[in-house]
Amino acid sequence: MTLGIAVAPGVRLIALPLPIALRIINAYLIEGPGGWALVDTGLHTEEAEHALRSALGESSVELSDVARVFVTHVHPDHIGMAGTLERAGAEVVMHGPEAEHARRLWGGTNELIDIAARWFAGHGMPRDVDDQMREAWMAMGRRVDPLAEIEHAADGDAIDLAGRPMRVVWTPGHTDHHACLFDESDGTLYGGDHVLPHITSNISLYPWSRDDPLADFLGALRAVRRLPVKRVLPAHGEPFDDLAARVDELARHHEVRLERVRELTRGRERDAYAICRDLFPVLRNAHEERFALAETLAHLRYLERRAKVREIAGRPARWVAA
Ligand SMILES: [Zn+2]
Ligand SMILES: [Zn+2]
Repeated sequence: MTLGIAVAPGVRLIALPLPIALRIINAYLIEGPGGWALVDTGLHTEEAEHALRSALGESSVELSDVARVFVTHVHPDHIGMAGTLERAGAEVVMHGPEAEHARRLWGGTNELIDIAARWFAGHGMPRDVDDQMREAWMAMGRRVDPLAEIEHAADGDAIDLAGRPMRVVWTPGHTDHHACLFDESDGTLYGGDHVLPHITSNISLYPWSRDDPLADFLGALRAVRRLPVKRVLPAHGEPFDDLAARVDELARHHEVRLERVRELTRGRERDAYAICRDLFPVLRNAHEERFALAETLAHLRYLERRAKVREIAGRPARWVAA
């Protein structure tokens, strides 16, 4: 693959390598009357930094030429190199509440990771898996640059990227305050991890999450479906045009999964980890264990809020169809 591929007028896709199953995150380099900007930044590994510098170099751009960076959400493959770009002179912009969460998550205390590990144990994750999950998560955190300052944008704001106005669209679900950018002038949606072409975004419940992330996600899918989008630039996978069809597919996928979760709780009380292992029989590493359990919990919460399942307190907590 060439390093930078033109995907929309004045926009190049930069494929940055990831040391996890996803393999690649797409950053988008935007050229406009105001210079250069970037959407998402990659996990900070030596390979990814090299790939970023090389791809910029293809367009004769230096790291220090990037004036602004928009980070769609807190995940390490998106925010990882934002600090490097900031130190090179860029202004980093994020949806405000997501930026605050980034500070708590990656601020170096591991406070949230510890809270999540205790919570997962309370949902039946075996001790050794939980320990590995925690270690793997902290190792990811070490690939996130320290961030000095982040400019906060609000939902609905028009922000300037390289002299091109972009609308900030809050799209909760994948994370609580994930935001897409919509370029109304040409119908381009910078989708982050909200709508991906080949895989479904991980929808996860954590102790600090908003009440019902799956309901948030389905609502945010319907919201972007109503926008006049001509082209989606996703953070993983190739750009695509038929947003409505993909949104409908994703909504169906979650309907099927919800039905399956209901089945797995019918007539027996089970902890979330046991349900998770029926839903996801193959989990290849500690990251996948975490995503799978958090995804199962998001589906259980959705069903609980609609009185289809109920949680029975205990350690581990158990779930049963209502
Ligand atoms: Zn993500
Ligand atoms: Zn991602």
